[in-house]
Amino acid sequence: MNLILLGPPGAGKGTQAKRLEERYGIAQISTGDMLRAEVRSGSEIGLQAKGIMERGELMPDAIITAMLALRVSKPDCARGFILDGFPRTTPQAEALDIMLREKGLQLDHVIELKVDDSALVERIAGRFTCAKCGEGYHDSFKAPKVKGVCDVCGSTEFNRRADDKAETVAARLEAYHRQTAPLLPYYAAQGKLQGVDGMASMSEVAIQIEAILGVPD
Ligand code: AMP
Repeated sequence: MNLILLGPPGAGKGTQAKRLEERYGIAQISTGDMLRAEVRSGSEIGLQAKGIMERGELMPDAIITAMLALRVSKPDCARGFILDGFPRTTPQAEALDIMLREKGLQLDHVIELKVDDSALVERIAGRFTCAKCGEGYHDSFKAPKVKGVCDVCGSTEFNRRADDKAETVAARLEAYHRQTAPLLPYYAAQGKLQGVDGMASMSEVAIQIEAILGVPD
């Protein structure tokens, strides 16, 4: 099963994608995570990505599409994948259609997480992850049970994303509305788009998504 999670930054795509990865045994592909790894490694793409991400802009379509093509060819994608943060522009969506057709694959579902813009800044500003295992937390909505200690692995080190500051979030939302939201009618026209209420609790959203995808085999 191959699916796309669409929605603005802070809608909960990453959280839901991780749950789906475990539940359905398909790979989560986050182009944002891939770019953050490039930044950490100091590669040429990473150097370019750093500035673009800090400004809340999007990477060039050709670079990100080439990265994605390599990623979906990896063995862990054999049972399918969840795209989280890709496609973000119409050229990326068109490139994905061609890529899938060439591989004899199809897109099964495109799920939109619908969230009010007013909720996003608070959601994004408070989020952080465990530096060791990557578990996601939030100052207001999901603090670790013991302050400063990861619930999952016990680590005491956490990271906050450089692009989660308020100034950058405004640019990221603008990029979403101008460049990514046009994908909603694109996938609606293909008969693939279904929406869930991203304002509901994390577990309620997960239930709504599973109702669309069906029981895992
Ligand atoms: P995300 O983790 O999905 O919020 O992505 C973080 C940042 O990485 C974005 O604000 C963009 O600068 C960049 N990025 C991630 N995915 C893409 C994509 N598909 N196309 C262009 N830029 C991307």
